[in-house]
Amino acid sequence: MNTIQEILLTEEQISTRVQELGAQISADYQGKDLVLVGILKGAICFFSDLIRKVSIPVNVDFMAVSSYGSSYQTSGAVRILKDLDLPIEGRHVLIVEDIVDTGLTLSYLKKNLLSRNPASLKVAALLDKPERRQVDEHADYLGFTIPDEFVVGYGIDYAEQYRSLPYVAILSPSAYLGS
Ligand code: 5GP
Repeated sequence: MNTIQEILLTEEQISTRVQELGAQISADYQGKDLVLVGILKGAICFFSDLIRKVSIPVNVDFMAVSSYGSSYQTSGAVRILKDLDLPIEGRHVLIVEDIVDTGLTLSYLKKNLLSRNPASLKVAALLDKPERRQVDEHADYLGFTIPDEFVVGYGIDYAEQYRSLPYVAILSPSAYLGS
């Protein structure tokens, strides 16, 4: 059974956009103490490609939060599974996230990190699905706006599968509806 319905973003498209975002971030944060916070696990590919396109010195750290688990619908409940190792008070923080969908995860993360008094807090997201937004959240640095489809690849999983695909693809509904 072919579980990939369509390739939405090719390796080349992603690489070009990530390079542009890296250049923009490097210019905007020149001379600033920047901590890039990758959100595990979905942002792993975006994060590792992006940091290599940022030409200024940065610190990196990670958080893991629960989102979809192994089902394909968001619960709205967010739980921290792994917290930051580094202190962020007085530092410029950039959250690096895979997808902004309903916006609930981002809303929670921002509230949580803002309570630690960073100098600034912004968001870089690879993908935005604005059709499903429930709260007024957005990425300050955005890779691509995509339609309301369930996507996998380039770090993004379905039930822990597909993360290693080099592209972003729409998953065939038969993969999660079990037909
Ligand atoms: P939100 O809280 O904005 O609804 O959800 C954000 C999280 O939901 C993302 O970080 C991602 O883990 C997950 N998510 C949203 N859309 C998709 C999708 O199309 N595919 C997968 N695999 N996860 C998604």
